[in-house]
Amino acid sequence: MTANAVVQLFSKGTKTSQQWQETTAQDQGSFFCSFEATISTAEASLTLLGCHQKRTRSDIHAIETADGVEVIIQPLELYRLHQQPGLAVFDMDSTLIQQEVIDELARSVGRYDKVAAVTEAAMRGELDFEASLRARVAELKGVSTDIWDKLKAEVITFTPGARELVQFLRQRGWKTAVLSGGFKPLADWVKDTLGLDYAFANQLAVDEATGTLSGEVLSGTLVVGAALKKELLLQLAIQNDIPIERTIAVGDGSNDLLMMGAAGLGIAFNAKPKVQEAAPVRLNTSTLLDIAYILGFSKQGVNEILTTDDP
Ligand SMILES: [Mg+2]
Repeated sequence: MTANAVVQLFSKGTKTSQQWQETTAQDQGSFFCSFEATISTAEASLTLLGCHQKRTRSDIHAIETADGVEVIIQPLELYRLHQQPGLAVFDMDSTLIQQEVIDELARSVGRYDKVAAVTEAAMRGELDFEASLRARVAELKGVSTDIWDKLKAEVITFTPGARELVQFLRQRGWKTAVLSGGFKPLADWVKDTLGLDYAFANQLAVDEATGTLSGEVLSGTLVVGAALKKELLLQLAIQNDIPIERTIAVGDGSNDLLMMGAAGLGIAFNAKPKVQEAAPVRLNTSTLLDIAYILGFSKQGVNEILTTDDP
């Protein structure tokens, strides 16, 4: 099957990464049409030398490595749909915020190393998410419930571009949600701070007598893992009358892959290597706002919308 595709090149790792060039090309099934490009960082410009068929994704990887760019390919039809308001769902830890909250909770009771190693393995997809979550939550027994305010005030930092991207999407009429395998007190705060429409996350049981976490997930609540994230994406799309093609899902961990696969466009943002391999689209730049460019908006267009007051 032959379909028109949009190929976008992003500069990697710079503070002001931007869309370098965009053009249409032919995406022929497993064959990617790609570009030979020269990058002049001094002039922040890109010269297209030509377009010719490449056989494998590894050829694309080679171009990315050699030229320090990120190559993003989307079907043209899908790309055009982004101009209409849609639904954007985001993972929280290491996506909207720069920390893994469960590790920070463990740090407060001196168990950071033990828990962080398990989190890392779980996010790489080496462990069953739910079982590993319950095992890590058990290590949180005795953490004071004061911890949430402390984390908000002193520890949690938002990923560059998170506020701007959410603001941009809202101004364009998109619905937004955080779907987190982390915890509700933080996810609700992230929702309120960024102005998201929805927050879903795990709930922890509290020992009211001591004001500490009991080390268990609240009974009767579902663990927000890969399957539930996907289910929530589908539910929110139906609830808001948004076709699934007009949804995007952004995350970094293996528990985000199912929702990324179900969304119209799944984006792995600075993700674990295995997640990058499996994700529909990979973005390894320094700001989440680059997603606005993936959706087809120009830097100027984004700036214009961001400087407009909320209606
Ligand atoms: Mg994450």
